[in-house]
Amino acid sequence: METSTEEMSQTIVETAEPIVMYKNVYKSFGDVEVLKGINLAIRPAEKVALIGPSGSGKTTIIRMLMTLEEPTSGEIIVDGKNLWHMQKDGKLVRANEKHLRAIRGDMGMVFQHFNLFPHMTILDNCITAPVHVKKEDKATAKQNAIEMLKKVGLGDKLDNYPSQLSGGQKQRVAMARALVMRPKIMLFDEVTSALDPELVGEVLEVIRDIAEEGEMAMVLVTHEMEFAREVADRIVFLDNGVIAEEGTPSEVLEHSDNERLVSFLSRFR
Ligand code: ADP
Repeated sequence: METSTEEMSQTIVETAEPIVMYKNVYKSFGDVEVLKGINLAIRPAEKVALIGPSGSGKTTIIRMLMTLEEPTSGEIIVDGKNLWHMQKDGKLVRANEKHLRAIRGDMGMVFQHFNLFPHMTILDNCITAPVHVKKEDKATAKQNAIEMLKKVGLGDKLDNYPSQLSGGQKQRVAMARALVMRPKIMLFDEVTSALDPELVGEVLEVIRDIAEEGEMAMVLVTHEMEFAREVADRIVFLDNGVIAEEGTPSEVLEHSDNERLVSFLSRFR
């Protein structure tokens, strides 16, 4: 089928729009200012790794995207929709629930501690959101879940319970559970930090596969620098609540003269 030039340029214009935008975002917990003016735009299908010292605000950045935290000021826009906006009088207004549900539906999140439902089988863990949130029929949801669990290498564990799996397997279930919702954006929050070292590889391998498929934007908070180099299009170094450096993996990991970054990276050598 022929595509007209006009249609093609339309597509290009659309895909160039950021899918996530943070505009001058500040966040305090009590008296402690954790984020101090974050500006970050993520393009569709872009893979962004967030690195930085513990406590620098990485998790808070992605929790705000999931609406698990709200900013103190600033704007966060997902796929053209505002999660919060500031009124002229400086008051922060949250989008209504219906709107937020639609936005959350675009996002999948995988946490450090898996957060699986312990009383449900692996398969049921991956069916419940498609059926109850997306209103898919159960047979379709089941078929998709089986396919996704096979993809993460757990096709033989469908009827097991989370307690019967290793940490790496649990984390792969958590990924399948997020992926069956077909999100536009996947958020990974230090997904290998709670794992025994020998289980890290299998989890990173699955993320690598998902990244290679290329369709989704991904934000990865990680301490695995070599992995970040391999998977990310862009690395963002967060320090003390600000983006202190960002660029391609080579720019950030090899060619920056930012002293704080160089010192941070020296811990991984
Ligand atoms: P990182 O992911 O880079 O380690 P976090 O975003 O988890 O950093 O945390 C940034 C800072 O905010 C830390 O000092 C942390 O203690 C604080 N913080 C995070 N969540 C809360 C909370 N719910 N209440 C109070 N302080 C918090």
